[in-house]
Amino acid sequence: MNATGKINVQTENIFPIIKKFLYSDNEIFLRELVSNAVDATQKLKALNSMGEAKGELGDLKIEIELDKSSKTITIKDKGIGMTKEEIEKYITQIAFSGAEEFVNKYKDKVDKNVVIGHFGLGFYSAFMVAKKVEIFSLSYKDGAKAVRWECDGSPEYQIEEIGNRTQRGTNIVLHIADDCEEYLEQSKIEGLLKKYCKFLPVEIKFGTRKTWVNSGEKDDKGEEKQVEKEVDNIINNPVPAWTKKPAELKDEDYNNFYRELYPMQFEEPLFHIHLNVDYPFNLTGILYFPKLSNKLELPKDRIQLYSNQVFVTDNVENIVPDFLTLLRGVIDSPDIPLNVSRSYLQADSNVKKISSHITKKVADKLEDIFKNERADFEKKWDDIKIFVQYGMISDEKFYEKAVKFALFKNTDGKAYTFEEFNEQVKALQTNKDKKVVYLYATNVNEQHAYIDAAKSRGYEVLLMETMLDPHYINHLEGKLKDVTFVRVDADTIDKLISKEENTISKLSEEEQKQLQPIIEGTVSKEQFTVVFENLSETDAPMIITRPEFMRRMKDMQQMGGGMSFYGNMPDMYNLVVNSNHPLIGRILKEENTERKTELAKQASDLALLSQGLLKGESLTKFIKRSVELI
Ligand code: ADP
Repeated sequence: MNATGKINVQTENIFPIIKKFLYSDNEIFLRELVSNAVDATQKLKALNSMGEAKGELGDLKIEIELDKSSKTITIKDKGIGMTKEEIEKYITQIAFSGAEEFVNKYKDKVDKNVVIGHFGLGFYSAFMVAKKVEIFSLSYKDGAKAVRWECDGSPEYQIEEIGNRTQRGTNIVLHIADDCEEYLEQSKIEGLLKKYCKFLPVEIKFGTRKTWVNSGEKDDKGEEKQVEKEVDNIINNPVPAWTKKPAELKDEDYNNFYRELYPMQFEEPLFHIHLNVDYPFNLTGILYFPKLSNKLELPKDRIQLYSNQVFVTDNVENIVPDFLTLLRGVIDSPDIPLNVSRSYLQADSNVKKISSHITKKVADKLEDIFKNERADFEKKWDDIKIFVQYGMISDEKFYEKAVKFALFKNTDGKAYTFEEFNEQVKALQTNKDKKVVYLYATNVNEQHAYIDAAKSRGYEVLLMETMLDPHYINHLEGKLKDVTFVRVDADTIDKLISKEENTISKLSEEEQKQLQPIIEGTVSKEQFTVVFENLSETDAPMIITRPEFMRRMKDMQQMGGGMSFYGNMPDMYNLVVNSNHPLIGRILKEENTERKTELAKQASDLALLSQGLLKGESLTKFIKRSVELI
């Protein structure tokens, strides 16, 4: 029986249009067709287990065949197959009308993000690469007759019953178009199968490969003889780790799966999170916290998104919160609308729920490790701190959980939770405004003298040295009431944590006024503000400090934080004059004006020198002057 049919659509020739609009993504044809083959196989298994499809199912492997000489790719499954009526219904009517809907909607738009499956177009993606498609199929149903269908992408197709097919299931034969011959390359197809089909739940065979196996005979030494044998080249792992129960898996299995996902990653992950949700949406997966190296990561090592084990994308933006996109692993959810544009994804309520669920899971896992393996957590903290801090800044819910386990480390590497740290410092470091002052350093070497001074008072100094820390500090100040962060070099040690008024000054106000212009004359007026302070006689005669707010403003400017209004604001410092230091008294009393200026200059240069601010000509002059003074 031979029949020609015409699909009842207005669009005359669907093939060139599909091809034109989906061109950029045409490689997904293979994913769509292999997924259909997997579906057909799974349906057969389900029917069989319900007693509908009777008998032994036999080998259910899906095979992909490439024939360069006939320029065809064939996708073979041994699934439920289709009868003639089913092909007419599922392939020509429903799917074709999906194709028509797509074409009508998108022929004027070039939105490459809209992908086919949304329109039930999976099968027709074949026409992105094929000039002709044939289907050979035999349904599992008793007495079914084999059929052959053929279509070149025009609304006309041929369908006939054929007598010579005895194998249950479907072969889809793609006659590759002349401008798509790249798909006739072995390596190209293998690459695509590895990308899209690596974890499909039915075995997929692509060609054969040679391997060594036991021969069953022993050699003279009594050892098993090996022989080379040709075996099926299986592309996928049908039962990937994330589909198993956590109880079935050991740490080693998780690490092995990590390597299966990212064969080029040699570093072990820090830890993993096994996701398993079935209400209010379905989601499984395993996320890994990688040890981030400083070098640029290969962009391909990202979280991969699957839908029922079919690879969808490794661009999980909008699905996973931003701060977790540095994680690795897989997420599998049939509830994520896969073939729609990103903006649509973002608005989808399931996607939002998924995102917040993942956030919660990650926080729970971290808390778990913190509670049960604190030492290990502290060790890993430096590697995960960037995720945690970023998460706390960008996600309120995450902050609420993380505040319990986020750590502060002091300059000696001792770790505290927020609560512990506050307990530790509040007695000594509360200022007269009842704020607890958290001192921090950003560079242990450069700020050494200040850190030392603070420690000698019994103060704790936190180390805040990363790019993110300034933002983090800002965020924490907004959150932790009664806490203020001050960098150790922001003021003289007594003023850092201002308590009651200081000791009396040895200089009268009159005397300070007299000295002021002389000292101001020794430094640049735009950069330095001269202030007198009643420090101890044993403190330095002059000290450079950099007020916290000035430095933060400058930092913001450098980070492009929107403070450009200040233009090229110079670095501003305070030149603190210790009015109780004997040298200052001596400068005051010196009668020789030249000598007076020289002494003042020497003292301020020393202060600059200790901050690494004395350079070039000023430094040369200073050295010369020092030699003369000696
Ligand atoms: P979708 O898979 O989204 O339903 P497709 O266009 O890919 O859309 O396929 C349309 C229908 O054709 C499928 O739902 C299925 O009923 C049938 N079909 C496609 N490929 C096969 C196959 N290999 N074996 C059996 N049926 C198939």
